[in-house]
Amino acid sequence: MYIITTFLSLALAVGGCALPEPSEPTEAVAERPNILLITVDTLRPDYLSIYGYREHTTPNIDELGNQGVVFDRAYCNVTWTTPSMATTLTGLLPTQHGLRSTFERLPEDIETVAEKLARQGYRNTAVIGSYPLDSIYGLDQGFDIYDDDFTVPLVLSNAETIENIPSQRGRTIQEQEEFNKKKAFANSRRTDAEVSDTAIGYLAEIDETRPFFLWVHYFGPHSLPDTRKHGLKNLRNHVDTYPDKVVRSDREVGRLLDQLKSSGLDANTLVIFHSDHGEALGEHKFIGHGRFLFEDNLQIPLIIRWPEFIVAGRRVDTIVGTIDIATTILEAAGVPVGNSPLHGRSVLPALLEGNPIRNTLYLETYMPAHRGFAEKATLSNGEKVNVGVCRFGVLRYPYKLVVTQPHQLFDDPDETISDELTSPFRRTELFNVEVDPGEKDDLADQEPETRHELETLLDRYLQESRMSYTPSVDLSDEDAEKLRNLGYLQ
Ligand SMILES: [Zn+2]
Repeated sequence: MYIITTFLSLALAVGGCALPEPSEPTEAVAERPNILLITVDTLRPDYLSIYGYREHTTPNIDELGNQGVVFDRAYCNVTWTTPSMATTLTGLLPTQHGLRSTFERLPEDIETVAEKLARQGYRNTAVIGSYPLDSIYGLDQGFDIYDDDFTVPLVLSNAETIENIPSQRGRTIQEQEEFNKKKAFANSRRTDAEVSDTAIGYLAEIDETRPFFLWVHYFGPHSLPDTRKHGLKNLRNHVDTYPDKVVRSDREVGRLLDQLKSSGLDANTLVIFHSDHGEALGEHKFIGHGRFLFEDNLQIPLIIRWPEFIVAGRRVDTIVGTIDIATTILEAAGVPVGNSPLHGRSVLPALLEGNPIRNTLYLETYMPAHRGFAEKATLSNGEKVNVGVCRFGVLRYPYKLVVTQPHQLFDDPDETISDELTSPFRRTELFNVEVDPGEKDDLADQEPETRHELETLLDRYLQESRMSYTPSVDLSDEDAEKLRNLGYLQ
């Protein structure tokens, strides 16, 4: 109650609220907003006209931006889908929620924003566009409906056909890995049009007596997973067709928003539009995402529209992360965040002039600790081997520190590789992304003071994340003993 009345005051202060402040806070609580979270996978902001793309090719997303607030310095915390969306849906650092590889699942004791909203009476529905967000990874926690029925296999072996691929449901991750090894398919998806059709179907049947939280995930301009296998030609084709794929996604987002409007739901619906990460299209000799922590992978679009409370047409340049989305949703819905370990912050106060919500952002990727994204080293006998690495970073605009360290391959946990082979992959880089947006000049040696400051900051992030689960209630000795016996306390 306190939070939503505070935000109503805030909205009045920025002049965006046409409604009177409610006399009874309970009235505001009773009229919680609907929430529509739109995720377009792999979408770079600079391919949207509203972020400066040279052609006006994305009229629907542009219109959403014109009706809402556009965040010009939005980042993902992790540069690949599954952990990025785990952070988006929990407001937790990956070090806190623990989903950092394709071999892990969001633990049941981690609360998603959907679980928190469900307790407030929200009806929660998700429409998922691709397999990395399958319910096998545990992101379905708190959703009444988690629609992840995929229809289009992406990679088929010669012997397989669409018809004889069995259902993916009910497999453990180990079973799934075994299945993937058989090369029946490496992934699976729905087209953006199918995602819109499905989401529009849910919107058309909305029960208006309860607020809803609808998360719609589009596969978007993501490459097909066999792109890398088939060499340079397919990679070039992905780069060449990327703008067209963005146009296609824009069209489908437009259809979804049209349905929201025609259903009369858009006035009291908070729309959050974003991507889970960007895409390198040749920068640093790389096409794709997940391997590095460069700006092409980290920068994402973020647009927030809430006609009843937010002034249209603003641009905000404070640093925000995908980690801040869950807390923003909770504040808008009037759900107290209290002493929970959420690391994200609500972006709503950023709508006040000169009110940055954060100065620093934690970044990481463990994708290159998977065989398919690993670094390569050569043994003395000439044999090539995969060397797993992980990357941690911290952004304190305009500086960004990235630390690369060797890490055991998730796929080959028993394989040992000598320090001699792994040590060349240990490095620390420092970039000034404002004066050097292409990140070509490593300043780690030239600016040791800044490097040291950011290294200290990164250590603090890592340390802080391990300490985040301090109890928010005072435990009696007896309660503490019970928790200790159950293994929750040491
Ligand atoms: Zn993704």
